[in-house]
Amino acid sequence: MAARLGADEFVLCFDALESHALDASVITDRLLSALNKPFSIGDQTVYLLSSAGLVTASNAFDDAESVLEHASLAMREAKRAGGARHVLYEPVMMDRAKQRGDLESDLRIALAEGQLFTVYQPIVDLADGSVAGMEALVRWRHPERGTVMPAEFIAVAEATGLIRELGDWVLNETCRQLVSWQMLLGDRSPRTVSVNLSRAQLADPGIVGRVADALSATRLLPVCLQLEVTESLAAQDAEVQARLKDLKQLGLTLALDDFGTGYSSLASLHDLPIDVVKIDRSFVCPVETSAHHRVLIESVVRVARSLGMSTVAEGIETACEAALLGALGCSKGQGYFYSTPLPAEEATAWLCAYRSPSVVLK
Ligand code: C2E
Ligand code: CA
Ligand code: CA
Repeated sequence: MAARLGADEFVLCFDALESHALDASVITDRLLSALNKPFSIGDQTVYLLSSAGLVTASNAFDDAESVLEHASLAMREAKRAGGARHVLYEPVMMDRAKQRGDLESDLRIALAEGQLFTVYQPIVDLADGSVAGMEALVRWRHPERGTVMPAEFIAVAEATGLIRELGDWVLNETCRQLVSWQMLLGDRSPRTVSVNLSRAQLADPGIVGRVADALSATRLLPVCLQLEVTESLAAQDAEVQARLKDLKQLGLTLALDDFGTGYSSLASLHDLPIDVVKIDRSFVCPVETSAHHRVLIESVVRVARSLGMSTVAEGIETACEAALLGALGCSKGQGYFYSTPLPAEEATAWLCAYRSPSVVLK
């Protein structure tokens, strides 16, 4: 039996199959390969990608609604895996969907009740040892789970649109923090603060206005703010590139985060309106043992410099790595060797206690 459920969703029921999962898979594959062939309409070739979720009687349910709900969960998993395929329902999918739902409602509460906080990690000038900046990283003080890391909730925030509110909060909080360091610490204040922007934030045309609002609300000079965007996102999209240029027009600087992990290459650097290239930890980590990685880093440094960009080595964990990266020409370094990310008060104490190596030598 075949029926249209609504919009572009259809339901097929098979009965009297001998081996439920196997037979249903074979039939569905035949169906999908027929649907996924190009169609000719006039002189146009049209491609449709169809995905399917399968539920079998062995996962017996009481009512039609739950059968449809489970099939739909499996279908969404098929789409998430790239589409043009089928996925068989497994109970773990229900658990995952529930966890995502719980996380979403908890995150709404977190934003409303102020459970988010920022930690700060220093970025140190490798030439003179001074504190060049602080990168803000968001954390969630969950009432039951303790501190939750961004890897667990940024993707949910992006998928649900909560990233806008979350991102605005981090931006305002971080600008406010730098102004307060400038007043409290004078010369000892970091020169800049960096804030991460994710794909969904940059896709939002309102972001330029909201960054301008954060700067004027906190009275932070635009040159003191750096925004970090990732390589994959900055390289491709013309609209995103135009937005990056608008952001730069505000007077702030842009850093390309995690360089080396995405698809863009050294050759594409010159297309991007960026000031700083952050070399990913996966390049920095093997630097002591791998001549290959040292050569790679040297090339990135050289190309960046020729384009007027500076470089930051991410994830420096030892004094030896710091020395090597300085010798390879990297302008700045960041990592556990200098400090782990610290809550605002501890970061203030770190800034007060920090003596740059050149000061120690004097
Ligand atoms: P990221 O921007 O690449 O941040 C660096 C990550 O590496 C941080 O993880 C930091 O704690 C960790 N790290 C720093 N130094 C070292 C080191 O020496 N060794 C090792 N093993 N790790 C080091 P974290 O805080 O868990 O953040 C993960 C990612 O979440 C960030 O990667 C960033 O992409 C994203 N993120 C964090 N805060 C925000 C935010 O406010 N907004 C957005 N959109 N994304 C954020
Ligand atoms: Ca970053
Ligand atoms: Ca990074």
